[in-house]
Amino acid sequence: MRIIVSVLVLALLAAYGRTERPAQPTPSRPLVGPSVRETAQCLADLREIGVAYRVLPDKETGPGCGLVGTAQLVEIGVPVNNLTAVRCGEARAFVGWIRNAVAPAAYQILGSELARVDSMGSYACRNTVGTAGPARRSGHAIANAIDVGGFVLKDGRRISVLTDYRSVDPQVAAFWRAIHTSACKRFGTVLSPDYNAAHQNHLHLEDDSANFCR
Ligand SMILES: [Zn+2]
Repeated sequence: MRIIVSVLVLALLAAYGRTERPAQPTPSRPLVGPSVRETAQCLADLREIGVAYRVLPDKETGPGCGLVGTAQLVEIGVPVNNLTAVRCGEARAFVGWIRNAVAPAAYQILGSELARVDSMGSYACRNTVGTAGPARRSGHAIANAIDVGGFVLKDGRRISVLTDYRSVDPQVAAFWRAIHTSACKRFGTVLSPDYNAAHQNHLHLEDDSANFCR
């Protein structure tokens, strides 16, 4: 019996180790990003819609990791915490989503203005988590994804992915439906708690062309 338990524990540890292992270098490919022209156009778009930002220098930070065409958002109209470098196209999609989907949905469906967005980060040199198959760099490795953990409303309510994504409150459920649907139109990849256990506490929003919405 003791042997069986030990074997089980070892198997569990091995399985755990597979998903939680720190980022391994992936087969090296040169860091590609948007062209200088695309980034310039995107930054002009951000300026035009009144977003304040600081352009960050391009740099490779590790195998398959780095910043190309990124900015630090300073002011988008509503406070967002925990954001560092964000690739411009991702920033543009994110600002559009917050302003035109999340803020109106908060006001119209939940009855209170959006006061703050609780992000769980943008740039991180790491692999994807919770997905089967060979290790692969996350969109966060090139600052092309933002994780959102929840929102704070002006009336003080906090709506979080972890505790409220499967809320039985019809208004809260309608709020998530509205902003998830909008996110899937604006981002190439949207991952929610409906995707896998690694996304129980946040929405992953990535500006790629995968057309993957969960
Ligand atoms: Zn993510």
